[in-house]
Amino acid sequence: MNKTTGGAFGLVVAAGQGERAGGAVPKQYRRIAGEALVARAARALLDHQAIDAVAVVIAPGHEALYQEACGHLPLLDPVVGGAERQDSVRLGLEALAAHAPEKVLIHDAARPFLSRVVIDGLLDALTNSPGALPVLPVVDTLKRAVDGDIETTVDRAGLFRAQTPQAFHFLPILEAHRHYAGEALTDDVAIAERAGLSVAAVAGDEALFKVTEPADFERAARHLALAFETRIGSGYDVHRLGEGNHVTLCGVKIPHDQGLLGHSDADVALHALTDALLGAIADGDIGQHFPPSDPRWRGAASDRFLAHAAALLRARGGEIVNVDVTLICERPKITPHREAMRARIAEILALPVARVSVKATTTERLGFTGRGEGIAAQASAAARLPIDNG
Ligand code: MG
Repeated sequence: MNKTTGGAFGLVVAAGQGERAGGAVPKQYRRIAGEALVARAARALLDHQAIDAVAVVIAPGHEALYQEACGHLPLLDPVVGGAERQDSVRLGLEALAAHAPEKVLIHDAARPFLSRVVIDGLLDALTNSPGALPVLPVVDTLKRAVDGDIETTVDRAGLFRAQTPQAFHFLPILEAHRHYAGEALTDDVAIAERAGLSVAAVAGDEALFKVTEPADFERAARHLALAFETRIGSGYDVHRLGEGNHVTLCGVKIPHDQGLLGHSDADVALHALTDALLGAIADGDIGQHFPPSDPRWRGAASDRFLAHAAALLRARGGEIVNVDVTLICERPKITPHREAMRARIAEILALPVARVSVKATTTERLGFTGRGEGIAAQASAAARLPIDNG
């Protein structure tokens, strides 16, 4: 997220009680491959470079569920919704109004597989139209039945299935929601229709199906298994110890009687981890993306290298599964700082802490790390990437 005013914002509606899908928790908080539906839906918007900020509308009483599902994501504060979906959307738009967005994408938390292609299509359409809707053709023949008996065949010409996100110029849709508050309209495009806003149809995506019934969770798991593959990457780095009074490891500053030497802040652990992420997408190495010869990186905090690698991975529609860092040194002692290191990496990568591991070992006083001449780090990362990524 680059800015929090103007631009295109995402609003994820997760304010339903979600009982139809069964289960102990409301469906928007049920997990697919370890991630709640609502988190996946919000992340799809967050990970798109053209979306500046995202907020989620939640049901009253769901604050703790939301925090557990989405606490690791850099989202705006959640908005507590109202009795009907339409009320929830209006309250969400009112909350976003403080940021003066130009455009808003209103998305249903129950549609977890939102691709960049669909977002691109919607944003494109908004250059010429105040609204845009992803649609799919109706392929099956439609029938009207009365009391279980087929009565007639419905002409499907001109009929489409509507998906979300539904995208709008912000002020017109906010005003429409205010004006038609309390009317039972099924979606945001229906409100736009009432307000006379034209809405362009753009190509939807079969993968953007809505998770409604219990069987949809199986379909979602199957989609994830078939459309994504897991890739791994590894990284290794060494920096020399020299004069100084602290070292920075995993983004945490640790007082020490020596310092790590290097062009940036010499955070050997974040450098190894950056290379691991780049390795997972086979996109070169840290030296290629941030040449040590470039004066811009003199003394630079290494979190930006790591964040950049994560952004490259996400720009391919990928998601980080887990990361694991091993620091190799005799001193300083890592254990007292381990949890702070995990928390800092989790923050940089917008991952749950449970998916971040930091370990340390010595080399029994052997070799350059054993003699205290330098610190080494190695890292691994696993990521899920769309199989069509090449
Ligand atoms: Mg390095």
